[in-house]
Formats: sequence, structure tokens, C-alpha cells
Amino acid sequence: MQISPNTAVSIHYTLTSDAGEVIDSSIGGEPLAYLHGTGSIISGLEKALDGKEVGDKFTAHIPASDAYGQVFEDRVQVIAREMFDGIDNIEVGMQFHADVSEGPGIVTVVKVEGDEITIDGNHPLAGMPLNFDIEIIDVRPATAEELDHGHIHGAGGHHH
Ligand code: ZN
Repeated sequence: MQISPNTAVSIHYTLTSDAGEVIDSSIGGEPLAYLHGTGSIISGLEKALDGKEVGDKFTAHIPASDAYGQVFEDRVQVIAREMFDGIDNIEVGMQFHADVSEGPGIVTVVKVEGDEITIDGNHPLAGMPLNFDIEIIDVRPATAEELDHGHIHGAGGHHH
């Protein structure tokens, strides 16, 4: 059957940057299972998968606008070290949950200079075009329970 809204889809994927660096991959693990047509994966990838069938293999080049969006400069902020109350060693690359109105809600420390800590609230993949190597592993109708929950159950999906 073809991938269409409200189908449960399992895919193997390898995600690379335009420079060819592997960012993420399901190869060697469980395929990713998701509920198609609900926006649970990035929009450009969902569009590329629409209508595909089991066994199809393809590569999709997805512009940042259909992936994690643009970089917002105002999500990069310098804050005082004392704001990180109770954390002794603040290092570049550390991530914190933040109470923000926009963005992913996770900030990454990008610079540490004395008592000035620069944090970036953009998604780590914001502003980047993404390349996906995809293989369709399984396509089936979602169950009523899955549609109710808005996600897929079982292998590669939610276990509860
Ligand atoms: Zn559920």
C-alpha cells in the first residue's frame, strides 16, 4: 500500500549534511515508525514520503525551510554565569531546558568567556538543508488506538 495520511510507516534513514557528514541514522537499529500526515516528522520529509511504497529507496534533499527552519539571531543570548545557579562547570556543548515562548525549548552553550555565557536557543539543525537516504520498510493502516493517541505503537514507536 502507498503512504498516505493515517498510515503507520516504518523507514530506515540516514541523515547527512550538505557536506556529507552523517548527522543521524537508523541503520543498525530499529526503523523509525511514525504516523503519516500528522506533522510528527519534518514537513519536507513527510512530503517526500507521500505516495511511496514498501521497498522504495530514494534520496531527498530538504531545504532548511522545510526542515528545522531558519536561524533566529535573537535566540542567541549572552547571560551571566550566576543564572546557572548550582552548576559549577559550564562548558560549550552543554544543553539546558529553558522556559521559552518560541523555539525548541532547549538551549545549547556555544561560548564561555569568564562570567559571560553565550547560549543558542535555535534547533541545532536550524538553517541547514538536510539530505535523507530513505528505505521504506513497512506501510500499514494505523489502528484506531494509534490515531487516537497520534503516534505509532510497537517496534520503533511508543511502548506503553
Ligand atoms: Zn499511544
